[in-house]
Amino acid sequence: MAGEPRIMRIGSREFPYDLLRHPRARRMRISIRPGRDGTGRILLTVPKRGSIRAGEAFLCRHAEWALREAERFSSQLTAVPHAEADNYRRRRAEAGVYIREKVKHWSGVYGLRHAGVTVRDQTSRWGSCSSKGRLSFSWRLLLLPERYADYVVVHELCHLVEFNHSSRFWTLVAREIPEYRDIARALRRG
Ligand SMILES: [Zn+2]
Repeated sequence: MAGEPRIMRIGSREFPYDLLRHPRARRMRISIRPGRDGTGRILLTVPKRGSIRAGEAFLCRHAEWALREAERFSSQLTAVPHAEADNYRRRRAEAGVYIREKVKHWSGVYGLRHAGVTVRDQTSRWGSCSSKGRLSFSWRLLLLPERYADYVVVHELCHLVEFNHSSRFWTLVAREIPEYRDIARALRRG
């Protein structure tokens, strides 16, 4: 779910963030997720009836942390598109090994068989699973925090059993990645 871009002022500093009013949110929370350009954006989630003023006060208290995390996220994600071609090829090759190892590990944990793995230069999705059981991943998983990459791999593997997003599917994902909700939210693009 995309947030509404807003700017908060702290003294003379401008502090951009996205605001999301969530009908099911019980309390305020701050998370970092990739924006359209792949850099880290601060997302403030407030309950449906929560006030923006209270939300911004909350964000203000955690501003240092949020800025630091957003910056860390951006530096991980933006380092590569600008890298030189050579470096790029090397990282892609690295990503292939990294992702295939993860698939091997997690398919072992779940006891699942897939029909092959493809690592692509896709930016629109982190991964997918075909109805024939072929898994495909963006090489950019290499740039994510490792636990996020684990989540993406587990997510696609679980589609080998449940080709949907039913509660059975999520239960299967949660068996190994209990914090999957937070990760999925952070990965969702605006
Ligand atoms: Zn899915």
